[in-house]
Amino acid sequence: MEGHTTAINNAMVITMEPGQPILEQGSILVEGDCIADVRAGSDFSAAPHRDIIDGTNLLVMPGLVNCHTHLPMSLFRGLADDLPLDVWLQEHMFPAEAAQMTPAVAEKWAFHSCGELLLSGTTCCCDGYFYEDHVARGVERSGIRAVLGQGVMDFPAPGVPDPGENIAVAEKFIDKWKDKNPRIHPSVFCHSPYTCCADTLKKAKEMATSQAVLFQIHVAETRNEMALVLSSQGGRASSVVQYLDGLDILDDRTLMVHCVWLDKEDIGIVKARKSSVVHCPESNMKLASGISPVLSFMAAGMDVGLGTDGSASNNNLDLFSEMDMAAKLQKTALDDPCALKAKSVVEMATLGGARALGLDRHIGSLVVGKKADLIAIDLRSPHLVPMYDPFSALVYNARGSDVIHVMVDGVFRIKDRVWGD
Ligand SMILES: [Zn+2]
Repeated sequence: MEGHTTAINNAMVITMEPGQPILEQGSILVEGDCIADVRAGSDFSAAPHRDIIDGTNLLVMPGLVNCHTHLPMSLFRGLADDLPLDVWLQEHMFPAEAAQMTPAVAEKWAFHSCGELLLSGTTCCCDGYFYEDHVARGVERSGIRAVLGQGVMDFPAPGVPDPGENIAVAEKFIDKWKDKNPRIHPSVFCHSPYTCCADTLKKAKEMATSQAVLFQIHVAETRNEMALVLSSQGGRASSVVQYLDGLDILDDRTLMVHCVWLDKEDIGIVKARKSSVVHCPESNMKLASGISPVLSFMAAGMDVGLGTDGSASNNNLDLFSEMDMAAKLQKTALDDPCALKAKSVVEMATLGGARALGLDRHIGSLVVGKKADLIAIDLRSPHLVPMYDPFSALVYNARGSDVIHVMVDGVFRIKDRVWGD
C-alpha cells in the first residue's frame, strides 16, 4: 500500500460533504488508504505507482453504510417468510440457529454476506450476532469495514450455552478485536429489552462504556414488544424508551435499531441523550412491525442511519433497494409525496449512517483525509438514462447491481463487478 495511488478522472462525483455541489466532471486522488484530493474539472495525470481509472460514464460517491445486519443469517434467507415477528423469531429463527449455527457456519455466511454487501455498494456495515469472533474473521477476509457486536441474551444462544456468561463472552470478543484490524470496530449487541432483563442490560451497557464501544440494541420494533416490556415493569415506565432511559442505557454511544413505536416524549429523550437510530423499512414492512416516524427523528436533529436488518427478514442486503423503500414508505405513511426527499435518503445511507455509528470522522463523505471508501456506478444502464437529478436516480432508479467498482481503505474490493477474493 505504501506509495500506491489511484486516480479516478472525469467522473460525476457526489462527495456528500454538506453544502458541496455535485461535481459534473470531477476527479479523485487516493493515496494509500485515504482520499488525497477531490477536484472539479481537472485530471490527475499518470505517475509512477498510480492507477488511472477513466471515470467517463461513472458516478462516484461514498460507499454506503448499512447500519444494521445479522451477517450469518443469510443462511436462513427465505426459510420462514410471511409470519409475525414473534412466531418468525421464536418458532423458526431461534430453533434454526440452535440446530445449524456453528463457528464455521457463522464465518462462512458472514463472508458470503460481505460479498453481497460489497457487490451492492456497501463499504461499511454494523452487525450484531453470535460467534462474532468468527463473523469477524469472515469480515476481515472480505475487505469490508464493519462495526461488529457480540450478541447478549438471557437464554442459551449460539456459542453461549450459559447465559450467565453472555457479557463475559462479549467482553472477550472486544478485547480480542479492539486493536486488531483498523477496519473492524468491536461492540456489544444486546438483542432487545424483551430478551435481556434489566440487570443484563445495565451490566452490558456498563461494560460497553468501560470499553468505549458502541452499544447496539433492537428497540420498540413491534407493538407486542411494547406490551411485553411494559407489563414486566408494572407501570414504572410508560414506554420502552423510558424504560431503557431509566436503566441509563441511552447515551451517545447507543445505537437504537428500528424505533418504530416512539412517541413525542420518547423522541425528546433520545434526542437529549444523543443516541442514534437505525431505520430498517423493508424488515419493518415485511414483518408488519409498523412505520418508524423517521421524519420526526430527523426534524429533532437525531442521527439516523439506514439498515437492511438480516437477510432472513428482508430478504437481501441491497441498500439501494432500502433507500427506495425508505422514501416511499414515509410518503405513504404521511400521505405526502414531498416527505423524505431523495437527497435526504442518500444522506441517511452515507454520512448519516457514519454519524450514527460514530465513524463520521473517517467515512461517510469524500473529503481529503477521510478513508478512501467509495463506489462507482455505471451510468450506461438503460434504467439510469436520462438522469435529471442524480439523487433521484440513486434512490428511485438505481440497483445494487449498477455498482461496478468498490473501494474500501484505498483498495478495490470490487473491480468491474468482480469480487476480488
Ligand atoms: Zn435486527
